[in-house]
Amino acid sequence: LLLKRLELQGFKSFADKTILEFVEGSTAVVGPNGSGKSNISDAIRWVIGEMSAKSLRGSNMQDVIFAGTETRKPVNFAEVSLVLDNSSHLFDINYDEVVVTRRLFRSGESVYQINRSNCRLKDIHELFMDTGLGRDGYSIIGQGNVSQILSTKAEDRRSLFEEAAGISKYKYRREEAERKLKGVEENLVRISDITTELE
Ligand code: ATP
Repeated sequence: LLLKRLELQGFKSFADKTILEFVEGSTAVVGPNGSGKSNISDAIRWVIGEMSAKSLRGSNMQDVIFAGTETRKPVNFAEVSLVLDNSSHLFDINYDEVVVTRRLFRSGESVYQINRSNCRLKDIHELFMDTGLGRDGYSIIGQGNVSQILSTKAEDRRSLFEEAAGISKYKYRREEAERKLKGVEENLVRISDITTELE
């Protein structure tokens, strides 16, 4: 059991603090149309680092903040925390439980946390990389996604297998190292230009 608990506050239709406990076995969420079922999966995708407002069914990121109803004032920030079981040490972190938190204010300011300590969005992306759960993971299959997976381009399909095989992390690190190397090479060229000028 990986997902233990989801805490929402001010996220989409969840104005009040709401806690969902996931128990052993499967969890199904039932409710009438428009009651906020999909908002729960949006919250999970958001807290694990989704950056596209459109894929969260909004036009800008602030659309995830509870916008108010006829009887209720809007709120100033949205916050979601996801508690994950890490007793198998799937995540490269030395705790048996991992809590990721994301908060967004109307001003646009964002806070990201891992185990209640501030971190960068990049740290959250890296935490989930190769676990299948992250931003580019395959654990959340949305309405209409199944046919997309089947008909998508070969390279995109391959990236799905790379994530499952656990090699995206290495690919990502290689790309980062290559980027740094390029920066160093550019600096070297600049230095050699300067030394020629000085000679
Ligand atoms: P369906 O069965 O039709 O897919 P659902 O139960 O999945 O419905 P959602 O799409 O999750 O429902 O929820 C939509 C509801 O969330 C709408 O009533 C919408 O007004 C509300 N909602 C979305 N964003 C916000 C927001 N920022 N503030 C307040 N309410 C919001």
